[in-house]
Amino acid sequence: METVNGVIIREKQIGEQDKAIAVLTKEKGVIEALAKGAMKINSKLGSATQLFTYSKLCFNKNKDRYYLNSCEPINLFYNIRLEVDKFALACYFADIIHYTIQINEPCENVARLMMNTLYFLDNGKVSNETLKAIFEFRHICEIGLMPQLLCCRRCYRYSTDLGLNMYFDMKDSMLLCEDCYNRQHDGDTEEDEEDTSHMYKLSPQTVEILRYIALCDQKKLFHLKMSEKRERSVSFITEEYLETKLDVRFNALTFYRSLSHKIEE
Ligand SMILES: [Zn+2]
Repeated sequence: METVNGVIIREKQIGEQDKAIAVLTKEKGVIEALAKGAMKINSKLGSATQLFTYSKLCFNKNKDRYYLNSCEPINLFYNIRLEVDKFALACYFADIIHYTIQINEPCENVARLMMNTLYFLDNGKVSNETLKAIFEFRHICEIGLMPQLLCCRRCYRYSTDLGLNMYFDMKDSMLLCEDCYNRQHDGDTEEDEEDTSHMYKLSPQTVEILRYIALCDQKKLFHLKMSEKRERSVSFITEEYLETKLDVRFNALTFYRSLSHKIEE
């Protein structure tokens, strides 16, 4: 028997009465398990196996398969299920986790990030768009895809103290300062013009925010404050970077965007 705490990131009815669940845990990454009888009306497994609930779960293991034996909810994150944009965002975060985290792979920082993000999504103390930017960018950094954000890859200037704009090269995960970018593209003729569709111009403030999300102590992550305009531009960049690196578009994100959160650049 194994007891762990975790967040339910998937639930799916199997047959008449059973449920398959996926749980994000610190110790074992994502655990997939069968909750027998969880769909019965008076099942003791019902509430603690609902999507996004943080629960204490006790599993039996048989030939590498997990079966849920008992469970109790610790935090239901009830408000997430009441508001459709919060729900859509939480589904998007769960999809990212499911896509990037292996079974049986310890992932303490990733699990803590997900739990904290759900906590603030539930209590509404941090805006949805800021939470989205924080989760996307910190998660991609936690799984080993952090870009080089410290200085220009050519001249090594740190930039923000000089008030310089930077170009974020998403393919190579590097920064290029505006001077070096202009020098590189000065005198480009149409034929030798380089494809710059993966280069995004960032203000010094946006660079600072990305550095903060990538590098600060997790305890301070959710202290981040941005204006509405800034959070839209940061969220645009973090979304593009995650999509470029994972090479996938999640349906839940398309759904979240369809709820009139269209990004204005
Ligand atoms: Zn430079």
